[in-house]
Amino acid sequence: MYFKDILGQDRIKQELLLQYKEGRVAHTQLFCSAKGVGAFELALAYARYLNCEHPGASDSCRVCPSCIKFNKLIHPDLHFIFPVIKAKICDDYLADWRRFVLSTPYFTLEQWLNYIQAENAQGIIYAKESESLLEKLSFKSSQGKYKTTIIWLPEKMHTVCANKLLKLFEEPPKNTIFILVSQEPELLLPTILSRTQRIDIPKLKSEEIAGYLQQNYGIDPTLSKSIAHISEGSLNKALAEIQLNEDKSLFLELFINIMRNAYAKKVKEIKAWSEQVAALGREKQKQLLTYCQYMIRENFIYNIQKPELNYMNDEEKRFSKNFSPFINERNIINIMKEFNRAQQHIEQNANAKMVFFDLALKLIVQIKQ
Ligand SMILES: [Zn+2]
Repeated sequence: MYFKDILGQDRIKQELLLQYKEGRVAHTQLFCSAKGVGAFELALAYARYLNCEHPGASDSCRVCPSCIKFNKLIHPDLHFIFPVIKAKICDDYLADWRRFVLSTPYFTLEQWLNYIQAENAQGIIYAKESESLLEKLSFKSSQGKYKTTIIWLPEKMHTVCANKLLKLFEEPPKNTIFILVSQEPELLLPTILSRTQRIDIPKLKSEEIAGYLQQNYGIDPTLSKSIAHISEGSLNKALAEIQLNEDKSLFLELFINIMRNAYAKKVKEIKAWSEQVAALGREKQKQLLTYCQYMIRENFIYNIQKPELNYMNDEEKRFSKNFSPFINERNIINIMKEFNRAQQHIEQNANAKMVFFDLALKLIVQIKQ
């Protein structure tokens, strides 16, 4: 992550560069922001810049040994502290963490916990993390520049850990920098707040997000503007919205496909459809079944002509105009039951190909009612 890779935030980048140029890099900094605006990414680009052997006016050099090591997050003077689970320390998750950070731009805690399959476990920075960090920082800086520790979500720190680090935050060893990246600074101990230099990182501008979506995802201007509008200055939200949009189009296509083939009793096509759906993976299959139930419900409402109760988008309405007469009081309950049963079977890890094929065969009967 370089400064140039970070969307917007020009004022913050200038402020950080200026700190460096004027030789007043604060040893303990607190970056505060909402989710998905690039605070962690800024911390990472800044850490890279501080250690770059030939830093330019506005970014790191890209080619020095330090920059090369930063590409893989394996620089020996770069340390991370982040929430983990099962009372472990960050070192136990370091390989996962590096892979995750390098592959997930503008990530959230939920995404990280999902990545390490935390299920319902809460992410915590446990008490013993402080000992691990103290040990790492007791070695001399291996490259002679800065030793940087990025603490992502310090509000998740156990109080014992936070208290042990206080002294370090106040008087760190020479050339040691801490960057705390917080989303809920109001949860931090006042003793931490008073020892850090706070930088508030603003939300992204709507036009910045729209431009990013057009450039990086080839999304057309109208859609990118509407996504940017509902993402409230968070690139993470915007990216999640794109995913949702893509899934929805696929789900609609699959829904149309199965309803047409069930109506036409095209068993060969139905079999191909079950295979296509089986290849999607369990999570997507569950979402598809939920989506199909939504479409059935919407079509029933469409059919009884209650447009004010309809939530379909234009694409969905276009199909429903002709399809809705096939969903009526004679079959809606049974069709919903079949989708519901399929959902239960998928949740119980039944063979997906069989579940979807079976479901489609039952739809052949129901759709004619
Ligand atoms: Zn460099």
